[in-house]
Amino acid sequence: MAKESPARRLMARLDELAAFTDDPPKLTRLCLSPSHRRAAEQFIAWTQEAGLSARIDPVGNVRARYEGRRPNAPALMIGSHIDTVRDAGRYDGALGALAALSVVEGLAAQQRRLDVAIEIVAFGDEEGVRFPHTLTGSRGLVGLNEPEALAQKDADGVSMREALQAFGGDPDHLGAARAEGVAAFVELHIEQGPVLEAEGKPLGIVTAINGATRLSVVVTGAAGHAGASPMNLRRDALAAAAEMVLAIEARARSEDELVATVGRLDAEPGAVNVIPGRARFSIDVRAPLDEPRRRAVADIAAAMSAIAGRRGVGLELTPTHEAAGYVCHPKIVAGLEAAAVAVGAAPRLLPSGAGHDTMVMGQRWPAGMLFVRCKGGVSHNPAESISPDDCAIALAALARFVEDFRAA
Ligand SMILES: [Zn+2]
Repeated sequence: MAKESPARRLMARLDELAAFTDDPPKLTRLCLSPSHRRAAEQFIAWTQEAGLSARIDPVGNVRARYEGRRPNAPALMIGSHIDTVRDAGRYDGALGALAALSVVEGLAAQQRRLDVAIEIVAFGDEEGVRFPHTLTGSRGLVGLNEPEALAQKDADGVSMREALQAFGGDPDHLGAARAEGVAAFVELHIEQGPVLEAEGKPLGIVTAINGATRLSVVVTGAAGHAGASPMNLRRDALAAAAEMVLAIEARARSEDELVATVGRLDAEPGAVNVIPGRARFSIDVRAPLDEPRRRAVADIAAAMSAIAGRRGVGLELTPTHEAAGYVCHPKIVAGLEAAAVAVGAAPRLLPSGAGHDTMVMGQRWPAGMLFVRCKGGVSHNPAESISPDDCAIALAALARFVEDFRAA
């Protein structure tokens, strides 16, 4: 019988893990939920089959260590998250966590030890769906955990403290999750965007993880009768907002790697025969580097204020979220690129539009990410898909990176 290939086994495990859901037949495995717990137990069972001892750490990550040639060698940490959004795809997160395990299984099968130890991590809180304050798994590893996070409650009134306790974490000793002796962190993840597919490349190397600024906007004009008010005497808040939305789009289009989105827009009073007196909308601006993002936000605010002035409407801009970007460590970027080339995949270097645990891990250790092409760029959706061939080449590149990695 032919030996099962590592990529095939990985794809089969991704299917198995997708069965751990709190809302079948949909895949919904929110942070610290019962299905997350069962998925973590399955993950631990697989690491034990590979001869590793695994555990749930105090903040709810699954961690397992594969020793290097010498005891207490510095560790290369690899992994991703195993929580999901609601009605999720089966590759977001799980692919990277299981790929880490697969790489270690490859080494263990050859009884091969490296100069570094390998630490596998399956983060527990990446998606931020259940509790608003997210990335507590990676934050715990770098030692950033704020005990306030434990007080936050989900929609059913369950606190994170209670959920963490039930999951097998230790809310009273979050500090014990802090990792030591880590040389670097690498995360394999699906791209969640369409760039690699459009360019016909299976692999991408992430150069930076976009920072984000979010604002909420209120435009105030004057409501009035849709029939009785001549066009030149109106102060239409929605028409002003529409012009602003297009100005935001134009500014984002003017610069590579800058993206801006108005994802929500409401008009009041919202009647067919009333001129809108008020419009509210959201703005989300992202870019790999903080400086260009801040400049873009300032330009957008100036353009909106000019439009408001010309149209005689009031404008109120409130920042609601600000996250710095993370520039991936050049040594990791170069190492991943070399590994991808070595396995025959000329990779595309690209920024990540989505946030990841890597941006937290990078605050303390050199960190980087390897992206795999996903079908149609679709993610956070059950239609999420990767090909077995792409899975195989991603796994080969990750294994190659690990074998060639040298702690500084
Ligand atoms: Zn993810």
